[in-house]
Amino acid sequence: MNETPESKKKGLIVIGGGITGLSTALTWAINHDVKEKPVVLIEKEPKTGGYVTSYKREHYVFDTCQMIPN
Ligand SMILES: Cc1cc2nc3c(=O)[nH]c(=O)nc-3n(C[C@H](O)[C@H](O)[C@H](O)COP(=O)(O)OP(=O)(O)OC[C@H]3O[C@@H](n4cnc5c(N)ncnc54)[C@H](O)[C@@H]3O)c2cc1C
Repeated sequence: MNETPESKKKGLIVIGGGITGLSTALTWAINHDVKEKPVVLIEKEPKTGGYVTSYKREHYVFDTCQMIPN
């Protein structure tokens, strides 16, 4: 197969939009020209965050993210 300039373009596919996937996709986007080398984030749930998320029960919002200061 002939290699064209188009076929040399390489982007990134990130599977999972938890904190690891989000930070990976963001780091890629900051450090690459995303018009040339795009990043696609695939998340199976309706919202990103993974374990770091919040949810509503009755009138309360529960935040699962725990901040442990040094
Ligand atoms: C109660 C609790 C307290 C914690 N406290 C701390 C703390 O104080 N400090 C700390 O550093 N860490 C803490 N952690 C750990 C930290 O939350 C996790 O290590 C971190 O959130 C993991 O992030 P992750 O992106 O690697 O994985 P996840 O958050 O699990 O994200 C993975 C994502 O991938 C998606 N996914 C999975 N399979 C597919 C698929 N086939 N296709 C598309 N998407 C898919 C999931 O839906 C999810 O959104 C805590 C964890 C818990 C449960």
